[in-house]
Amino acid sequence: MKTGRRTNAKPNETVERELMLIDGEWTASGDGRFIPVENPAKRGIVIAEVPRAMETDVGHAVKAALKAFESWKRIPPRDRGKLMLKIATDIEAQSEGLAKTLSLETGNAIRTQSRGEIALAVDLFRFYGGVASEQKGETVPLGEQVLCYSRREPIGVVAGIIPWNSPVLLGALKITMALTVGNTLILKPASDAPLAVLKMARICDAHLPKGVLNVVTGSGNECGTMLAKHGGVRKLSFTGSSEAGKTIMAAGAERIVPVTLELGGKSPQIVFPDANDDHVVQSVINAMRFTRQGQSCTAGSRLFLHTSIFDSFMDKLVKKLSSLKIGDPLDETTDVGAIINRIQFEKVCNYVKDGLEQKGSSLVLGGLPPKEGPLAQGYFMEPTIFTHIKNEWRIAREEVFGPVLVAIPWEDEEEAIRMANDSHYGLAAYVYSHDIGKALRAAHTIESGWIQVNQGLGILPGTSYGGFKQSGMGREYSLEGMLDSYTQRKCITVNLQY
Ligand code: NAP
Repeated sequence: MKTGRRTNAKPNETVERELMLIDGEWTASGDGRFIPVENPAKRGIVIAEVPRAMETDVGHAVKAALKAFESWKRIPPRDRGKLMLKIATDIEAQSEGLAKTLSLETGNAIRTQSRGEIALAVDLFRFYGGVASEQKGETVPLGEQVLCYSRREPIGVVAGIIPWNSPVLLGALKITMALTVGNTLILKPASDAPLAVLKMARICDAHLPKGVLNVVTGSGNECGTMLAKHGGVRKLSFTGSSEAGKTIMAAGAERIVPVTLELGGKSPQIVFPDANDDHVVQSVINAMRFTRQGQSCTAGSRLFLHTSIFDSFMDKLVKKLSSLKIGDPLDETTDVGAIINRIQFEKVCNYVKDGLEQKGSSLVLGGLPPKEGPLAQGYFMEPTIFTHIKNEWRIAREEVFGPVLVAIPWEDEEEAIRMANDSHYGLAAYVYSHDIGKALRAAHTIESGWIQVNQGLGILPGTSYGGFKQSGMGREYSLEGMLDSYTQRKCITVNLQY
């Protein structure tokens, strides 16, 4: 471990202190202040502290990234790709330690969530490392006497701001997409979950020239805002809530820098009458991300069930969900972990209260969390389902970001699609039917960026990912996402007659 150049902070004897990465140095903040990182499965017991980056720290990081950009952009893409592949190998070798840290800070169950998240991060480094040479331009046939070609050049210093719900995956995504094509990056993880990202950054740091990757820790209101507004940053890539996304877009508009926004969702799942079986029940559970406590932007949290199968499908769903084990994220038998923090826990509880208060709604599973017993030791909630919900109610319109599914009956296909589209979000959607023509007609009509038919899986490298409407702008995870979002085209026209 490298030592920090500004380790003037008084060491805290009781918890581990992790440092942040600026210009190849592991460092505290300029004023030596730290912020706590808590364990949500133990109701907020502090497990570590990270630096509270302020304006001067952000300034140092931007300066370092600007300097590093001058040489990093000149390295052939294939060689940058090779570094991504080396990093993938090292992350894979340390995956168990990373998964443990991730479970401790996020509350996500290690078996059902964290190991898979690290494996996907490794896949991302391999995917982008492998396609690095695809940073190609085009030639335009303007005639024998003219050579016209384009180059895809890096943009410069990128600020990547990520949330807590899958921090290693999203951190890996920003790192690979930005760096592979020659940008340098300042990554800001969420203050609730910076530890596994910092561990991953240590692995990256061992392979990268100094200043190419910088990680600053601190809150969104402080270092996040400063980073978004910094004049040296030439591209903003933000994953988080639609509310914060609007402030990022405003910061980008202020100085006309490109902005990628991956924001919230309230994704529909439409089940046709011929899809009333165990495979679809399991897919609905997967799509709702119940084993991530519903804390996923792509959670299929509005279930549109045809009236003819409503009761029997619901019986199967409740039975299957009731068998999930909730508890200690590090226990190998746990399926569902804890909600990230007290504020989010209370927010989800308030949505449940709101659902209970609606006239005609019916709670068929879960509900408010237990006040005593082992689950009361952490921010645990049971998978919760409301039926007889109206699509216009708050609980069916707003992103709960918790394990709360609302089920809405439908009779007519057009009505189901109209309700699915009646949302200001448009991130993901799920359609289930054996009639592939019907399923694809629905998929083509639904206003969402990513639609799955007869499955509820997670994203895979190579697929185009991003939202319609207030779920965001720009695409990530794919080759064209990297090229379109992280490079700028330059066109060169040469008069060959001269
Ligand atoms: P959030 O409150 O918007 O925070 C996301 C990140 O932005 C955190 O690092 C946060 O810092 C920072 N931040 C907050 N306000 C900021 C501001 N004004 N300026 C600069 N940075 C700011 O979201 P969250 O609660 O962490 O995450 C949940 C949300 O993310 C949900 O809406 C979910 O749907 C969305 N999400 C979207 C995707 C996608 O791919 N579309 C993926 C995952 C999550 P601090 O937390 O440290 O204050």
